[in-house]
Amino acid sequence: MKVTKHIENANGNTLFSFEIIPPQKGKNIQELYDNIDPLMEYNPPFIDVTTSREEYIYIDKGNGLLDKKLTRMRPGTLGICASIKHKYNVDTVPHVLCGGFTKEETEYLLVDCNYLGIDNVMALRGDAMKDEQYFMPKAGGNCYAVDLVAQIYELNKGKYLHEVMDIDNRPDFCIGVAGYPEKHLESPSLTSDLKRLKEKVDAGADYVVTQMFFDNSKYFEFVKRAREMGITVPIIPGIKPIAVQKHLQVLPQIFRIDLPEDLIIEVDKCKNNAEIRQVGIEWAIQQSLELKAAGVPVLHYYSMGKSENIRQIASKVF
Ligand code: FAD
Repeated sequence: MKVTKHIENANGNTLFSFEIIPPQKGKNIQELYDNIDPLMEYNPPFIDVTTSREEYIYIDKGNGLLDKKLTRMRPGTLGICASIKHKYNVDTVPHVLCGGFTKEETEYLLVDCNYLGIDNVMALRGDAMKDEQYFMPKAGGNCYAVDLVAQIYELNKGKYLHEVMDIDNRPDFCIGVAGYPEKHLESPSLTSDLKRLKEKVDAGADYVVTQMFFDNSKYFEFVKRAREMGITVPIIPGIKPIAVQKHLQVLPQIFRIDLPEDLIIEVDKCKNNAEIRQVGIEWAIQQSLELKAAGVPVLHYYSMGKSENIRQIASKVF
């Protein structure tokens, strides 16, 4: 079922959902299931599965030279979506990227999604690769998420890249896109970024999931400005609990987000990671309760594959 239909059916009640990342290549999928199992008690109507960018690795040839190879360390997004969908009878949302894919490869991926009964896709540009300063699309690939949304939207109408198919099994994907309450790191201003978000919605996006934020006022302001700009689709807040000291440095560095002073003070008081995890859980509970009281459609948690902190939050919020 479509994410938007789940929201409609909830009649104003806030739903619980989360996002997982595929295991590293070679790792068993059981660990993923072990982390999903405890969260199923909170009835997520959908689970997102991320897609990782490809990256360069250097293989020692043993003769003093290195072989540069392009590889994906966490493949398997679609396979995981299919296996979770059937194991738990829950909708899954594969993240589909512009980066690293030609439009044809994206089309084949979407055809697979359709055959697997996947009704939702999250359309994203993807970040620059680790070795690159700026995002570079693959030759023949989509440049921005808006282009990918347009491709999916056309496919929903039976328009493939090179053919128009008047067929009985036309896909009807519900399309999610990313939004940034503290603006995307490459964007010159929040207003400019919101205009880009509006373009994605005008191109066919059905809902927005936000980047993580730790100060709810940033989300409320973002939604207000989005509504003023004419963006009417659901805007789902993304929540990530702080879990380790390093998060204080890496989250602002990677995502260009601010952490509230009170949260920093609480984390700095902690003597070990167990205490920091608890602070992160408490903070996320308070954030979630306020957002739920404000009537957000869904609370979407970034689990990063580990569920115990998310389970503790959900037990207090749902
Ligand atoms: P876009 O909407 O294309 O925007 C990218 C930048 O370009 C913005 O600064 C925007 O303002 C600007 N822009 C947009 N259109 C134009 C235009 N026509 N001309 C000029 N500038 C323009 N990354 C992954 O690799 N895998 C994932 O699974 C993944 N999941 C995510 C899930 C969520 C909920 C979020 C919020 C992010 C996720 N990301 C993921 C990260 C995302 O790929 C990066 O943030 C990426 O840098 C931007 O993606 P986007 O889809 O927002 O891009």
